[in-house]
Amino acid sequence: MSTQKNFFNLKAYNTFGFDYHANHLIKIYSIDNLAEVYNQSLPTHHILGGGSNILLTKNIEGYVLKCEIKGIHIEAENEQFVEVTVGAGEVWHQFVLWALSQKLGGIENLSLIPGTVGAAPIQNIGAYGVEQKEVFVSLKAFNLHTGELETFDKKACKFGYRDSFFKGEGKGAYFITHVTYRLTKTNHNIQLDYGDIRKKLDDQNIKNPSISDISDAVIYIRKSKLPDPANIGNAGSFFKNPIISRSKFESICKKFPNIPFYEGSHKDEVKIPAGWLIDQLQYKGRRNGNVGVHDKQALVLVHYGNGKGHELYDLASEIKTAVFQHYDIPLEMEVNIW
Ligand code: FAD
Ligand code: NAP
Repeated sequence: MSTQKNFFNLKAYNTFGFDYHANHLIKIYSIDNLAEVYNQSLPTHHILGGGSNILLTKNIEGYVLKCEIKGIHIEAENEQFVEVTVGAGEVWHQFVLWALSQKLGGIENLSLIPGTVGAAPIQNIGAYGVEQKEVFVSLKAFNLHTGELETFDKKACKFGYRDSFFKGEGKGAYFITHVTYRLTKTNHNIQLDYGDIRKKLDDQNIKNPSISDISDAVIYIRKSKLPDPANIGNAGSFFKNPIISRSKFESICKKFPNIPFYEGSHKDEVKIPAGWLIDQLQYKGRRNGNVGVHDKQALVLVHYGNGKGHELYDLASEIKTAVFQHYDIPLEMEVNIW
């Protein structure tokens, strides 16, 4: 049975810690629960996982469906791979820890990303040179318009850089119930050339790191750089790193020769670290009342407490405008605005 609560306070259910309520919240434990919701034709759904990638700016009038579908099941395996289906309500990092305990590789670089497994394909979570699409096989999603359970393979998900079908055309229409990943038993395709992972392993004199060593290094680096939502409200990176054409980049370089960049996934594209752009405009550490920009990572906007979501939204809009006016680069918000 699903459980329904009325006038539900969402403060502990969004990592920014903004104090808003939902008129109705229904906890979804199974596909049958979703069928019940569908049969009742309840108005306006918002789907909530761990609340680590949303910005609440108002009370939610309609129904919030909170995903609580659990379970980790091995579907198939051979000598090299395991295919595992995970309930969308499982905590992502718990799934990573489970994989490590089984000595299964592929998601160790994605350690300590907050949130649920069901939300991972929504923005194709990524960190330290790895994206979930690399191990993704398929997902099951309940179509909230038709009541059908549909299967999406990798192509249908249209994964992009922090993007997917579910952030675009499919936005709000599907409740993801299960995700299937293929993890490696042997010949792990380890990725160390990103950020400080290799340096951290060298410092520890680890020459042939195991997947657990890599996970430990990622956890250490993340804890030392990123603000913990338990201490200060945030939703990780507020903006995506902009991907611009190489020709535009070359023209911007004439004015800003020191601008850092990384090669994009297509040869005619370049990725600019948005944190650098924001930092150059002296926003790092800035505080506007109850909200501000983190002092160690300019890409992370923070809520100090007692603030309102629209204050943070206004700050984000101000930063977006400032970056555009100065660099002619449009920033896109990564966080979902509710
Ligand atoms: P929520 O915030 O609950 O929801 C996010 C969106 O997905 C909403 O639109 C929601 O409606 C939708 N949604 C959620 N569950 C479902 C479902 N079952 N079916 C359909 N739609 C659903 N992200 C990265 O990519 N890489 C990082 O390294 C990273 N680091 C972070 C660090 C910190 C400190 C924080 C706070 C966030 C970080 N994030 C990162 C962002 C966030 O962790 C991810 O986007 C995560 O996948 C969000 O999961 P969630 O369950 O909290 O989603
Ligand atoms: P960082 O290592 O200080 O790097 C800053 C930015 O430069 C990152 O956003 C990253 O892009 C890019 N970058 C660094 N090395 C790169 C390389 N070798 N090739 C291509 N791009 C490179 O970043 P950080 O803030 O400490 O975060 C570390 C990792 O965790 C990053 O992958 C970041 O995306 C991820 N993270 C994501 C969130 C989120 O909410 N989305 C929050 C915290 C951390 P990418 O972002 O494209 O990787």
